[in-house]
Amino acid sequence: MPTIIDGKAISTAIKDELKKEVADRNIKATLAVIQVGNDPASTVYVGNKKKACAYIGIGSKSYELPEETTEEDLLGLIDDLNKDDEISGILVQLPVPKHINEKKITAAISPLKDVDGFHPESVGRLCIGQEGFVSCTPAGIIELLKRTGVEIEGKECVVIGRSNIVGKPMALLMLANNATVTVCHSRTKDLAGICKRADILIAAVGKPKMITSEYVKEGAVVIDVGIHRMENGKLCGDVDYDDVYEHTSAITPVPGGVGPMTIAMLMVNCVKAAAWEK
Ligand code: NDP
Repeated sequence: MPTIIDGKAISTAIKDELKKEVADRNIKATLAVIQVGNDPASTVYVGNKKKACAYIGIGSKSYELPEETTEEDLLGLIDDLNKDDEISGILVQLPVPKHINEKKITAAISPLKDVDGFHPESVGRLCIGQEGFVSCTPAGIIELLKRTGVEIEGKECVVIGRSNIVGKPMALLMLANNATVTVCHSRTKDLAGICKRADILIAAVGKPKMITSEYVKEGAVVIDVGIHRMENGKLCGDVDYDDVYEHTSAITPVPGGVGPMTIAMLMVNCVKAAAWEK
């Protein structure tokens, strides 16, 4: 029987470990969470992040800015928070409104407080194997694999997707863990044929149920990053779970697989940020 990788249980275990570490080491940390506008999905994400901070015993400060906030004002706030010794981590909930340049915002956050791991310096550090903040979703996938006992070293890994927040850092992390890595994208030829070589297949393609058994090698580990709301209101991933399940040795469900890991790893980064010499 394939293992269903329980992201909910693993994320809770990580948060409980952090809670203990924060208490035992008397760690003082405060996460600044900035939201521009009132997109309902962003409000839910921000609320969940603040709840996770409270759970592990660190502080959070909210900055809820109106939709019409200028780029200059947002940069000014980030600059103030960069200089504020009480603030250990800064997170700007994405996406920001169209009149604000996301790249400028990401680059304005001090790399020492970059708990999302999106700053060019964080990405560069990951690329050359230096300690730094790692994008939370891919970091969470490494934890899922390790804590499920999936060996990564020497394995053939195929990542579908090359976005800056998932696909690319995912590929770099698998490489750092000594997998042999192939990255696929929308121009890849014979996607199914390449995916079928994978011992570990990671789908971050953003297309509901696109990855069917035709893409999966018998006994592969399948990680589904995608999250989509179907017409019937239920959630599904990029993988056609029912079709793929019996061909895998382990698979993440949606919901309850990769999703919960993102916030757990954000908390890991917040605790790391508190210890980082500013
Ligand atoms: P993006 O849309 O930024 O990237 C999608 C990638 O898939 C691109 O590299 C694109 O290629 C590639 N792609 C698109 N269509 C195809 C195709 N037909 N064949 C092969 N490759 C294709 O998405 P993200 O990386 O941000 O997110 C991916 C998924 O993960 C989404 O469903 C998102 O909702 C989910 N997600 C989940 C998170 C979680 O916490 N669980 C966190 C972040 C994302 P190209 O570069 O050529 O355009």
